[in-house]
Amino acid sequence: MPPQTLPLGKFDTRFQEIQRERVSERVAQELLRLIAGGELAPGERLPGERQLAEMMNVSRVSIRAALQQLKAQGFVSAVQGGGTRITAAAEEIDAGLSALIRANQENLRDLMELRAYLEVWAARRAASRASPRQRDEIDQRLAAMADPNRSKRHKAEDDLNFHLAIAKASGSAVYLHLTSVLRDILEEMVIHHRYTLYATEEDDKRFLEQHRHIAEAIRVGDAEGAAEAMAEHMANVNAKYQRDGSEGPALSEGPPLTPVDRG
Ligand SMILES: [Zn+2]
Repeated sequence: MPPQTLPLGKFDTRFQEIQRERVSERVAQELLRLIAGGELAPGERLPGERQLAEMMNVSRVSIRAALQQLKAQGFVSAVQGGGTRITAAAEEIDAGLSALIRANQENLRDLMELRAYLEVWAARRAASRASPRQRDEIDQRLAAMADPNRSKRHKAEDDLNFHLAIAKASGSAVYLHLTSVLRDILEEMVIHHRYTLYATEEDDKRFLEQHRHIAEAIRVGDAEGAAEAMAEHMANVNAKYQRDGSEGPALSEGPPLTPVDRG
């Protein structure tokens, strides 16, 4: 007996049409996964369209469509002069907080204390869950700071990048976004520049030593050691901020600043 064909096969509802997902949709999903997982940090610039297309093995048209979609959703924004960067989630909070802090010195101290707790939290998390690649990045940032031939004008940027590498290694997108808001404000208040650019040789040596302790603890997965080392570093940084803040001119004044690339 010949095998029976299925009756009315065309209308058999057990067989669903396969949805062909658009490639740009997949690209957008993948980028969003990287943002939500904290692998792409707020403020970080994405590679160019062509490079992304090559790396992800899709057409530039798909990349462009995916970026359009993410822009409309507010996850990325255009950079002046071309390119795309990851949006910091809380740009409006940022403005409100900045105003609060400018209005009152005590708010600034609160913010610095809070940042210290957060950095300690991040160092502990990074020590217990950083990937080998993330640990390498922290070590590379440390090496840049320790290089005696490195120009002093990179000081603020290098320090920032070291802390950013730890933030990424914490594996928390929420932390990355929170910390980017705090960082924006502290930078705006000039304080960051002041302690990194105008610190004495002695300060520089001490900060480098502290950074080294943090990186070493993270490398060997010593969560408590990393937290302790970061707590000590933050106590030093905050003490320096406060010393400068109380002795020097108003925070918004001071010597002319070298613009710092926040990339
Ligand atoms: Zn530091």
